[in-house]
Amino acid sequence: MKDSTMKNGPGMLSTLASQSDYDPNSMPVEQARAFIRQFLAPPSTEETVALQDVFLRTLAADVPSPIDVPPHDYSAMDGYALRYADLGEGSAKLRVIGRSHAGHPFGGKVSSGECVRIMTGALIPEGCDTVVMQEQTSLEGTSVVVAGTHAPGQNIRRAGEDIRLGAVALRTGQVVRAAEMGLLASLGLGTARVRKRLRVAVFSTGDELLQPGVPLQTGRIYDSNRYSLHGMLNELGGVEILDMGSIRDERAVIRTALLDAASRADVIITSGGVSVGEADYIKELLAQIGEVVFWKIAMKPGRPLAYGKIGSSHFFGLPGNPVAVMVTFRQFVSDALRMLMGQQPAPRLAFKAVCTERIKKSPGRTEFQRGIVSQGEDGGLTVRTTGEQGSGILSSMSMANCFIVLPAPQGNVEAGSMVDVQLF
Ligand code: AMP
Ligand code: MG
Repeated sequence: MKDSTMKNGPGMLSTLASQSDYDPNSMPVEQARAFIRQFLAPPSTEETVALQDVFLRTLAADVPSPIDVPPHDYSAMDGYALRYADLGEGSAKLRVIGRSHAGHPFGGKVSSGECVRIMTGALIPEGCDTVVMQEQTSLEGTSVVVAGTHAPGQNIRRAGEDIRLGAVALRTGQVVRAAEMGLLASLGLGTARVRKRLRVAVFSTGDELLQPGVPLQTGRIYDSNRYSLHGMLNELGGVEILDMGSIRDERAVIRTALLDAASRADVIITSGGVSVGEADYIKELLAQIGEVVFWKIAMKPGRPLAYGKIGSSHFFGLPGNPVAVMVTFRQFVSDALRMLMGQQPAPRLAFKAVCTERIKKSPGRTEFQRGIVSQGEDGGLTVRTTGEQGSGILSSMSMANCFIVLPAPQGNVEAGSMVDVQLF
Protein backbone atom coordinates (compact mmCIF):
# COMPACT_ATOMS: atom_id res chain seq x y z
CA MET A 1 0.00 0.00 0.00
CA LYS A 2 1.34 3.43 -0.91
CA ASP A 3 1.78 6.06 1.77
CA SER A 4 -0.44 8.53 0.00
CA THR A 5 -3.33 6.08 -0.02
CA MET A 6 -3.19 5.75 3.75
CA LYS A 7 -3.53 9.44 4.34
CA ASN A 8 -7.24 9.96 4.18
CA GLY A 9 -7.80 10.93 7.81
CA PRO A 10 -10.81 12.92 8.98
CA GLY A 11 -8.90 16.17 9.28
CA MET A 12 -8.02 15.51 12.87
CA LEU A 13 -5.35 18.12 13.09
CA SER A 14 -7.57 20.87 11.74
CA THR A 15 -10.28 19.79 14.17
CA LEU A 16 -7.76 20.16 16.94
CA ALA A 17 -6.53 23.51 15.74
CA SER A 18 -10.05 24.89 15.99
CA GLN A 19 -10.34 23.85 19.62
CA SER A 20 -9.14 26.55 21.95
CA ASP A 21 -7.31 25.60 25.16
CA TYR A 22 -5.72 22.69 23.29
CA ASP A 23 -2.35 21.87 24.82
CA PRO A 24 -0.80 18.60 23.65
CA ASN A 25 1.68 18.73 26.51
CA SER A 26 -0.90 18.80 29.26
CA MET A 27 -4.16 17.33 28.06
CA PRO A 28 -6.85 16.90 30.71
CA VAL A 29 -8.33 13.38 30.85
CA GLU A 30 -11.88 14.52 30.02
CA GLN A 31 -10.76 16.63 27.07
CA ALA A 32 -8.81 13.72 25.59
CA ARG A 33 -11.86 11.46 25.95
CA ALA A 34 -14.11 14.02 24.30
CA PHE A 35 -11.66 14.56 21.47
CA ILE A 36 -11.34 10.88 20.66
CA ARG A 37 -15.11 10.38 20.86
CA GLN A 38 -15.82 12.64 17.88
CA PHE A 39 -14.09 10.20 15.50
CA LEU A 40 -15.68 6.97 16.60
CA ALA A 41 -18.40 6.06 14.13
CA PRO A 42 -18.91 2.28 14.20
CA PRO A 43 -18.17 0.35 11.00
CA SER A 44 -21.63 -0.63 9.74
CA THR A 45 -21.07 -4.34 9.34
CA GLU A 46 -23.32 -6.92 10.91
CA GLU A 47 -23.89 -10.64 10.92
CA THR A 48 -26.25 -13.27 12.27
CA VAL A 49 -24.77 -15.34 15.07
CA ALA A 50 -26.01 -18.43 16.91
CA LEU A 51 -27.23 -17.76 20.43
CA GLN A 52 -24.41 -19.82 21.97
CA ASP A 53 -21.83 -17.49 20.37
CA VAL A 54 -23.48 -14.17 21.08
CA PHE A 55 -22.00 -13.46 24.54
CA LEU A 56 -20.52 -9.92 24.77
CA ARG A 57 -21.52 -9.10 21.20
CA THR A 58 -23.49 -5.93 20.42
CA LEU A 59 -27.01 -6.12 19.01
CA ALA A 60 -27.23 -4.54 15.56
CA ALA A 61 -31.02 -4.23 15.56
CA ASP A 62 -33.94 -3.92 17.97
CA VAL A 63 -35.37 -7.28 18.99
CA PRO A 64 -39.18 -7.29 19.00
CA SER A 65 -40.65 -10.23 20.89
CA PRO A 66 -42.20 -12.86 18.58
CA ILE A 67 -44.28 -14.20 21.50
CA ASP A 68 -45.80 -13.29 24.84
CA VAL A 69 -43.41 -14.12 27.71
CA PRO A 70 -44.55 -16.15 29.51
CA PRO A 71 -46.56 -17.56 26.61
CA HIS A 72 -49.58 -18.60 28.76
CA ASP A 73 -50.91 -18.26 32.31
CA TYR A 74 -48.87 -20.41 34.69
CA SER A 75 -48.98 -21.26 38.36
CA ALA A 76 -46.42 -19.50 40.53
CA MET A 77 -46.93 -21.99 43.41
CA ASP A 78 -47.47 -25.63 44.24
CA GLY A 79 -51.10 -25.95 45.33
CA TYR A 80 -54.59 -26.07 43.83
CA ALA A 81 -56.05 -24.24 40.85
CA LEU A 82 -59.69 -23.30 41.39
CA ARG A 83 -62.47 -20.82 40.73
CA TYR A 84 -62.31 -17.87 43.10
CA ALA A 85 -66.11 -17.70 43.22
CA ASP A 86 -66.10 -21.12 44.91
CA LEU A 87 -64.29 -19.77 47.97
CA GLY A 88 -66.93 -18.70 50.46
CA GLU A 89 -66.47 -16.79 53.69
CA GLY A 90 -64.97 -19.57 55.82
CA SER A 91 -63.43 -22.67 54.36
CA ALA A 92 -64.45 -24.36 51.12
CA LYS A 93 -64.35 -28.02 50.18
CA LEU A 94 -63.56 -28.75 46.52
CA ARG A 95 -63.30 -32.03 44.62
CA VAL A 96 -59.87 -32.69 43.08
CA ILE A 97 -60.52 -33.78 39.48
CA GLY A 98 -56.97 -33.97 38.12
CA ARG A 99 -53.46 -32.62 38.10
CA SER A 100 -51.49 -30.10 36.07
CA HIS A 101 -47.68 -30.46 36.12
CA ALA A 102 -45.06 -28.36 34.34
CA GLY A 103 -45.02 -29.65 30.78
CA HIS A 104 -48.08 -31.86 31.43
CA PRO A 105 -51.21 -29.68 31.44
CA PHE A 106 -54.61 -30.82 32.68
CA GLY A 107 -56.69 -31.49 29.59
CA GLY A 108 -60.18 -30.97 30.97
CA LYS A 109 -62.29 -28.08 32.14
CA VAL A 110 -62.85 -27.16 35.78
CA SER A 111 -66.44 -26.51 36.88
CA SER A 112 -67.89 -25.07 40.06
CA GLY A 113 -67.05 -27.13 43.16
CA GLU A 114 -63.95 -28.63 41.51
CA CYS A 115 -60.21 -27.97 41.58
CA VAL A 116 -56.98 -29.30 40.11
CA ARG A 117 -53.74 -30.17 41.89
CA ILE A 118 -51.15 -27.85 40.29
CA MET A 119 -47.36 -27.43 40.41
CA THR A 120 -45.19 -24.35 39.90
CA GLY A 121 -44.76 -23.65 36.19
CA ALA A 122 -47.83 -25.71 35.20
CA LEU A 123 -50.50 -24.34 32.88
CA ILE A 124 -53.62 -22.94 34.60
CA PRO A 125 -56.51 -25.23 33.63
CA GLU A 126 -59.50 -23.88 31.76
CA GLY A 127 -62.15 -22.54 34.13
CA CYS A 128 -59.68 -21.67 36.92
CA ASP A 129 -58.73 -18.12 37.87
CA THR A 130 -56.88 -18.53 41.17
CA VAL A 131 -54.21 -20.71 42.78
CA VAL A 132 -54.19 -21.47 46.50
CA MET A 133 -50.88 -22.58 47.89
CA GLN A 134 -50.65 -26.06 49.27
CA GLU A 135 -49.84 -24.85 52.82
CA GLN A 136 -53.33 -23.32 53.06
CA THR A 137 -55.11 -26.57 52.22
CA SER A 138 -55.73 -30.02 53.69
CA LEU A 139 -56.64 -33.14 51.81
CA GLU A 140 -59.79 -35.07 52.79
CA GLY A 141 -60.08 -38.16 50.60
CA THR A 142 -60.55 -36.94 47.03
CA SER A 143 -61.40 -33.43 48.15
CA VAL A 144 -59.39 -30.55 49.45
CA VAL A 145 -60.37 -28.09 52.17
CA VAL A 146 -59.20 -24.55 51.56
CA ALA A 147 -58.75 -22.19 54.52
CA GLY A 148 -57.58 -18.59 54.90
CA THR A 149 -58.32 -15.49 52.85
CA HIS A 150 -57.49 -15.19 49.19
CA ALA A 151 -57.50 -12.72 46.35
CA PRO A 152 -58.90 -13.43 42.89
CA GLY A 153 -56.10 -14.18 40.41
CA GLN A 154 -53.47 -14.81 43.06
CA ASN A 155 -50.36 -16.92 42.45
CA ILE A 156 -50.69 -16.82 38.68
CA ARG A 157 -47.93 -15.63 36.31
CA ARG A 158 -49.86 -13.98 33.51
CA ALA A 159 -49.19 -14.45 29.81
CA GLY A 160 -47.07 -11.51 28.60
CA GLU A 161 -46.36 -10.15 32.09
CA ASP A 162 -42.60 -10.16 31.35
CA ILE A 163 -42.72 -9.15 27.67
CA ARG A 164 -45.70 -8.66 25.37
CA LEU A 165 -45.81 -10.01 21.84
CA GLY A 166 -44.35 -7.34 19.53
CA ALA A 167 -42.81 -5.24 22.30
CA VAL A 168 -39.13 -4.34 21.88
CA ALA A 169 -37.39 -6.73 24.26
CA LEU A 170 -33.85 -5.50 23.59
CA ARG A 171 -32.56 -2.42 21.82
CA THR A 172 -29.90 -2.02 19.19
CA GLY A 173 -26.56 -1.23 20.79
CA GLN A 174 -27.24 -3.49 23.76
CA VAL A 175 -24.34 -5.69 24.85
CA VAL A 176 -25.38 -9.30 25.26
CA ARG A 177 -24.46 -10.46 28.76
CA ALA A 178 -25.87 -13.31 30.81
CA ALA A 179 -29.33 -11.74 31.29
CA GLU A 180 -29.64 -10.95 27.58
CA MET A 181 -28.57 -14.48 26.61
CA GLY A 182 -31.40 -15.81 28.75
CA LEU A 183 -33.85 -13.20 27.50
CA LEU A 184 -33.16 -13.99 23.83
CA ALA A 185 -33.61 -17.68 24.59
CA SER A 186 -36.89 -16.98 26.41
CA LEU A 187 -38.17 -15.39 23.20
CA GLY A 188 -37.37 -18.61 21.37
CA LEU A 189 -34.70 -16.96 19.24
CA GLY A 190 -31.82 -19.22 18.23
CA THR A 191 -29.78 -16.46 16.59
CA ALA A 192 -29.20 -12.72 16.93
CA ARG A 193 -28.26 -9.93 14.56
CA VAL A 194 -25.01 -8.45 15.93
CA ARG A 195 -22.16 -6.16 14.96
CA LYS A 196 -19.27 -7.93 13.35
CA ARG A 197 -16.30 -8.38 15.64
CA LEU A 198 -13.95 -5.41 15.62
CA ARG A 199 -10.59 -6.46 14.26
CA VAL A 200 -7.97 -5.20 16.68
CA ALA A 201 -4.29 -5.49 15.80
CA VAL A 202 -1.97 -5.50 18.79
CA PHE A 203 1.80 -5.26 18.98
CA SER A 204 4.44 -4.27 21.49
CA THR A 205 7.54 -2.28 20.65
CA GLY A 206 10.90 -2.52 22.34
CA ASP A 207 14.31 -4.11 21.73
CA GLU A 208 14.33 -5.27 25.35
CA LEU A 209 11.24 -7.45 25.02
CA LEU A 210 11.40 -11.21 25.35
CA GLN A 211 8.56 -13.66 24.88
CA PRO A 212 7.33 -15.48 27.97
CA GLY A 213 8.46 -19.10 27.94
CA VAL A 214 12.07 -18.47 26.94
CA PRO A 215 14.94 -18.08 29.46
CA LEU A 216 15.65 -14.59 30.69
CA GLN A 217 18.64 -12.73 29.27
CA THR A 218 20.60 -9.88 30.81
CA GLY A 219 19.07 -6.52 30.07
CA ARG A 220 15.85 -7.96 28.74
CA ILE A 221 12.34 -8.10 30.21
CA TYR A 222 9.32 -10.14 29.28
CA ASP A 223 6.62 -8.61 27.10
CA SER A 224 3.73 -8.39 29.54
CA ASN A 225 1.75 -5.62 27.89
CA ARG A 226 0.56 -7.70 24.99
CA TYR A 227 -0.87 -10.23 27.41
CA SER A 228 -2.67 -7.74 29.63
CA LEU A 229 -4.06 -6.23 26.42
CA HIS A 230 -5.28 -9.64 25.33
CA GLY A 231 -6.98 -10.03 28.69
CA MET A 232 -8.63 -6.61 28.62
CA LEU A 233 -9.77 -7.06 25.01
CA ASN A 234 -11.28 -10.43 25.83
CA GLU A 235 -13.02 -9.01 28.90
CA LEU A 236 -14.56 -6.40 26.62
CA GLY A 237 -15.59 -9.04 24.07
CA GLY A 238 -16.78 -8.48 20.51
CA VAL A 239 -13.24 -8.26 19.16
CA GLU A 240 -11.03 -10.39 16.98
CA ILE A 241 -7.43 -9.96 18.06
CA LEU A 242 -4.71 -9.89 15.41
CA ASP A 243 -1.63 -10.51 17.51
CA MET A 244 1.40 -9.14 15.69
CA GLY A 245 3.91 -9.99 18.41
CA SER A 246 6.58 -7.63 19.62
CA ILE A 247 8.51 -5.47 17.27
CA ARG A 248 12.02 -4.01 17.38
CA ASP A 249 12.57 -0.30 17.78
CA GLU A 250 13.45 0.13 14.13
CA ARG A 251 11.84 2.68 11.96
CA ALA A 252 11.38 0.47 8.90
CA VAL A 253 10.06 -2.49 10.89
CA ILE A 254 7.54 -0.40 12.81
CA ARG A 255 6.46 1.30 9.65
CA THR A 256 5.83 -2.01 7.90
CA ALA A 257 3.96 -3.34 10.92
CA LEU A 258 1.73 -0.26 11.11
CA LEU A 259 0.90 -0.37 7.40
CA ASP A 260 0.20 -4.09 7.60
CA ALA A 261 -2.02 -3.58 10.66
CA ALA A 262 -3.87 -0.71 8.99
CA SER A 263 -4.64 -2.84 5.96
CA ARG A 264 -6.19 -5.61 8.09
CA ALA A 265 -7.62 -4.10 11.27
CA ASP A 266 -10.27 -1.62 12.38
CA VAL A 267 -8.14 -0.66 15.35
CA ILE A 268 -4.41 -0.76 16.04
CA ILE A 269 -3.14 -0.81 19.61
CA THR A 270 0.57 -0.60 20.34
CA SER A 271 2.48 -0.23 23.56
CA GLY A 272 5.78 1.49 24.14
CA GLY A 273 7.78 3.94 22.12
CA VAL A 274 5.60 6.98 22.73
CA SER A 275 7.57 8.50 25.60
CA VAL A 276 9.87 11.45 25.07
CA GLY A 277 13.04 9.71 23.82
CA GLU A 278 11.33 7.80 21.07
CA ALA A 279 8.27 9.89 20.47
CA ASP A 280 9.70 12.16 17.86
CA TYR A 281 10.81 9.22 15.87
CA ILE A 282 7.47 7.39 15.83
CA LYS A 283 5.78 10.76 15.49
CA GLU A 284 7.58 11.44 12.26
CA LEU A 285 6.67 8.01 10.94
CA LEU A 286 3.02 8.37 11.83
CA ALA A 287 2.88 11.82 10.32
CA GLN A 288 3.93 10.22 7.03
CA ILE A 289 1.50 7.34 6.97
CA GLY A 290 -1.47 8.64 8.91
CA GLU A 291 -2.77 11.40 11.06
CA VAL A 292 -1.87 10.94 14.66
CA VAL A 293 -1.71 13.28 17.63
CA PHE A 294 0.62 12.81 20.58
CA TRP A 295 -0.49 13.93 23.96
CA LYS A 296 0.91 14.12 27.38
CA ILE A 297 -2.27 13.42 29.26
CA ALA A 298 -2.47 15.18 32.62
CA MET A 299 -2.81 11.85 34.37
CA LYS A 300 -0.69 9.48 36.37
CA PRO A 301 0.21 6.87 35.37
CA GLY A 302 -0.22 6.96 31.61
CA ARG A 303 1.09 10.32 30.62
CA PRO A 304 2.04 9.75 26.98
CA LEU A 305 -0.76 8.66 24.67
CA ALA A 306 -1.07 8.79 20.90
CA TYR A 307 -4.37 8.70 19.08
CA GLY A 308 -5.18 9.00 15.44
CA LYS A 309 -5.98 7.27 12.21
CA ILE A 310 -3.91 5.36 9.73
CA GLY A 311 -6.10 5.03 6.68
CA SER A 312 -9.47 4.08 8.09
CA SER A 313 -7.98 2.31 11.14
CA HIS A 314 -8.00 3.91 14.54
CA PHE A 315 -4.62 3.99 16.20
CA PHE A 316 -3.96 3.99 19.95
CA GLY A 317 -0.32 4.28 20.95
CA LEU A 318 -0.20 3.38 24.62
CA PRO A 319 2.75 4.00 26.91
CA GLY A 320 5.21 1.18 27.63
CA ASN A 321 4.90 0.95 31.38
CA PRO A 322 2.72 -2.02 32.24
CA VAL A 323 0.42 -0.22 34.71
CA ALA A 324 0.11 2.75 32.37
CA VAL A 325 -1.02 0.40 29.60
CA MET A 326 -3.83 -0.92 31.75
CA VAL A 327 -4.88 2.48 33.04
CA THR A 328 -4.95 4.13 29.61
CA PHE A 329 -6.79 1.15 28.14
CA ARG A 330 -9.44 1.31 30.84
CA GLN A 331 -9.75 5.11 30.78
CA PHE A 332 -9.66 5.71 27.02
CA VAL A 333 -9.46 2.68 24.79
CA SER A 334 -12.24 0.50 26.18
CA ASP A 335 -14.87 3.23 25.82
CA ALA A 336 -13.62 4.00 22.33
CA LEU A 337 -13.86 0.34 21.33
CA ARG A 338 -17.37 0.15 22.79
CA MET A 339 -18.42 3.10 20.66
CA LEU A 340 -16.84 1.49 17.59
CA MET A 341 -18.96 -1.57 18.34
CA GLY A 342 -22.07 0.62 18.32
CA GLN A 343 -22.57 0.54 22.09
CA GLN A 344 -23.54 3.52 24.15
CA PRO A 345 -20.61 4.45 26.39
CA ALA A 346 -21.54 3.17 29.83
CA PRO A 347 -21.65 5.89 32.46
CA ARG A 348 -18.41 5.83 34.40
CA LEU A 349 -19.75 4.95 37.83
CA ALA A 350 -17.73 6.18 40.74
CA PHE A 351 -18.62 6.23 44.40
CA LYS A 352 -17.12 7.64 47.55
CA ALA A 353 -15.25 5.66 50.16
CA VAL A 354 -13.30 6.59 53.26
CA CYS A 355 -9.59 6.44 52.58
CA THR A 356 -7.92 4.72 55.51
CA GLU A 357 -4.43 6.02 54.79
CA ARG A 358 -2.65 9.22 53.85
CA ILE A 359 -1.86 9.51 50.13
CA LYS A 360 0.85 11.84 48.90
CA LYS A 361 -0.12 13.74 45.78
CA SER A 362 0.82 17.01 44.17
CA PRO A 363 -1.81 19.05 42.33
CA GLY A 364 -1.70 19.03 38.50
CA ARG A 365 -2.56 15.57 37.22
CA THR A 366 -5.46 13.18 37.70
CA GLU A 367 -4.13 10.14 39.52
CA PHE A 368 -5.43 6.62 39.20
CA GLN A 369 -4.07 4.90 42.27
CA ARG A 370 -4.64 1.19 42.63
CA GLY A 371 -6.91 0.54 45.56
CA ILE A 372 -8.56 -2.19 47.55
CA VAL A 373 -12.07 -1.29 48.59
CA SER A 374 -13.77 -3.22 51.34
CA GLN A 375 -17.03 -3.11 53.22
CA GLY A 376 -17.11 -2.87 57.02
CA GLU A 377 -19.55 -4.57 59.42
CA ASP A 378 -21.71 -1.42 59.32
CA GLY A 379 -21.87 -1.59 55.50
CA GLY A 380 -19.60 1.46 55.11
CA LEU A 381 -16.97 1.43 52.38
CA THR A 382 -13.30 2.01 53.06
CA VAL A 383 -10.42 1.99 50.65
CA ARG A 384 -6.66 1.69 50.91
CA THR A 385 -3.96 1.71 48.26
CA THR A 386 -2.17 -1.45 47.16
CA GLY A 387 1.07 0.13 48.38
CA GLU A 388 3.88 1.19 46.06
CA GLN A 389 2.30 2.94 43.04
CA GLY A 390 5.11 2.97 40.45
CA SER A 391 3.84 2.64 36.89
CA GLY A 392 5.90 -0.49 36.35
CA ILE A 393 4.47 -2.34 39.34
CA LEU A 394 1.99 -4.62 37.65
CA SER A 395 1.29 -6.61 40.80
CA SER A 396 -0.56 -3.51 42.03
CA MET A 397 -3.15 -4.04 39.26
CA SER A 398 -3.55 -7.65 40.25
CA MET A 399 -4.03 -6.83 43.95
CA ALA A 400 -6.40 -3.94 43.28
CA ASN A 401 -10.16 -4.13 42.87
CA CYS A 402 -10.59 -0.44 42.08
CA PHE A 403 -8.95 2.79 41.04
CA ILE A 404 -8.80 5.54 43.62
CA VAL A 405 -9.36 8.55 41.36
CA LEU A 406 -7.76 11.73 42.64
CA PRO A 407 -8.77 14.77 40.56
CA ALA A 408 -6.08 16.95 39.03
CA PRO A 409 -6.30 19.92 41.46
CA GLN A 410 -6.24 17.64 44.52
CA GLY A 411 -3.18 17.69 46.80
CA ASN A 412 -2.35 15.21 49.57
CA VAL A 413 -5.18 13.05 50.85
CA GLU A 414 -5.43 12.80 54.62
CA ALA A 415 -6.38 9.52 56.26
CA GLY A 416 -10.11 9.47 56.99
CA SER A 417 -11.16 11.68 54.08
CA MET A 418 -13.52 10.67 51.29
CA VAL A 419 -12.13 9.72 47.89
CA ASP A 420 -13.67 8.70 44.56
CA VAL A 421 -13.47 5.02 43.77
CA GLN A 422 -13.96 3.40 40.35
CA LEU A 423 -14.59 -0.34 40.68
CA PHE A 424 -12.92 -2.61 38.12
P1 AMP B 1 8.73 3.02 26.51
O1 AMP B 1 7.45 3.75 26.52
O2 AMP B 1 8.92 2.18 25.28
O3 AMP B 1 9.88 3.94 26.77
O4 AMP B 1 8.68 2.02 27.73
C1 AMP B 1 8.56 2.47 29.05
C2 AMP B 1 8.91 1.35 30.01
O5 AMP B 1 8.01 0.26 29.84
C3 AMP B 1 10.28 0.74 29.80
O6 AMP B 1 10.80 0.42 31.08
C4 AMP B 1 10.00 -0.51 29.01
O7 AMP B 1 10.99 -1.49 29.17
C5 AMP B 1 8.69 -0.94 29.56
N1 AMP B 1 7.94 -1.70 28.56
C6 AMP B 1 7.74 -1.30 27.29
N2 AMP B 1 7.02 -2.21 26.61
C7 AMP B 1 6.78 -3.22 27.48
C8 AMP B 1 6.08 -4.47 27.39
N3 AMP B 1 5.49 -4.85 26.25
N4 AMP B 1 6.03 -5.24 28.49
C9 AMP B 1 6.60 -4.85 29.65
N5 AMP B 1 7.24 -3.70 29.80
C10 AMP B 1 7.37 -2.88 28.73
MG1 MG C 1 10.46 1.26 24.31
